[in-house]
Amino acid sequence: GSSNFFELPEVLKEISGDHRAGSEAGKSHVAKDRIPARRGQIVRTEEKGLVPENLPKLRKRKFSAFVPVMRGCDNFCSFCNVPYVRGREVSRLPHDILKEVKELSYLGYKEITLLGQNVNSYGKNLEERIDFADLLGLINKIEGITRIRFTTSHPKDLSDKLIEMMRDLDKVCEHLHLPVQSGSNRILSRMNRKYTREGYMELVGKLRQAIPDIALTTDIIAGFPGEEEKDFQDTLDLVKRIRFDGAFTFCYSPLEGTKASEYKERVPDKIGGERLRRLIEVQQEITLERNKSLVGKRFEILVEGVSKKTPYELQGRTRGNKIVVFEGKEDLIGELILAEVLEAGCWALKGETIPC
Ligand code: SF4
Repeated sequence: GSSNFFELPEVLKEISGDHRAGSEAGKSHVAKDRIPARRGQIVRTEEKGLVPENLPKLRKRKFSAFVPVMRGCDNFCSFCNVPYVRGREVSRLPHDILKEVKELSYLGYKEITLLGQNVNSYGKNLEERIDFADLLGLINKIEGITRIRFTTSHPKDLSDKLIEMMRDLDKVCEHLHLPVQSGSNRILSRMNRKYTREGYMELVGKLRQAIPDIALTTDIIAGFPGEEEKDFQDTLDLVKRIRFDGAFTFCYSPLEGTKASEYKERVPDKIGGERLRRLIEVQQEITLERNKSLVGKRFEILVEGVSKKTPYELQGRTRGNKIVVFEGKEDLIGELILAEVLEAGCWALKGETIPC
């Protein structure tokens, strides 16, 4: 499967009849677990619970990098196929993660985004007693790195300890992507999300109390099997109460092999699409209002590149993950600057640089 991709060089050599050494990462795990199915084909039957290290990485940017901390997922949300296609949760060793972040810092990277399907459960399968909050604390000490982001968080695993660390660690950005998926307890249960709308709202309350200017974004599915109008109204109500900074919204679409794909009570596409449209309308209005409240304020921006819409301008991100477009020279790309917000749109803010 995809979790064995790091064995590819060795497997290719096996097929071509060249038995000399293959990749370092897969070296000791290939020979005894592969089954030659027929000439020219090798079938891997067992997952080793490893995250491959020392693989070459293609990094597009020289100032911001993604660093995986784990792979796979144990949650089995009924609509999702990740646990089947990526396997069970496996965390990287803290030593390997810290080494990678230190190397990035040495190369001049300023921002890192820690990646995992559910970073909040980092460390559960490791012998060393460490959780994601501890890992953030260790990374926060690495000189040169000025911004730490992470995604994705599962609400059921967002601990008080992690919220306190987010509040106290100066490099952890004031933004959290916390997928809610639905505002209806009945639908959350059918999704196997293992939290309630009340529990989710309580978490948001704790986050905002600890970090008042935190930006919150989420994922929401409209038209999940069995969703009735009153369930959808619960979702709209939650969206209006929480007032997310942004939301990735989807119309439910079945994935083969998942539990939800077997649910009989399908919402007709027309109704699902209509609910999605109403949801987007409500969220866009909230996003615009929240963005407008930032006009006149000053933010640190990490300049990411030339604006996608107006090539004579640059764009960057605030610590709260808001895109800011402003006039400036290309040699600012990769730098941290200060900008004041002049105008707000739904997708981006317009600003001007302030001399530091
Ligand atoms: S939606 Fe996220 S938490 Fe749920 S099974 Fe998929 S990857 Fe895991």
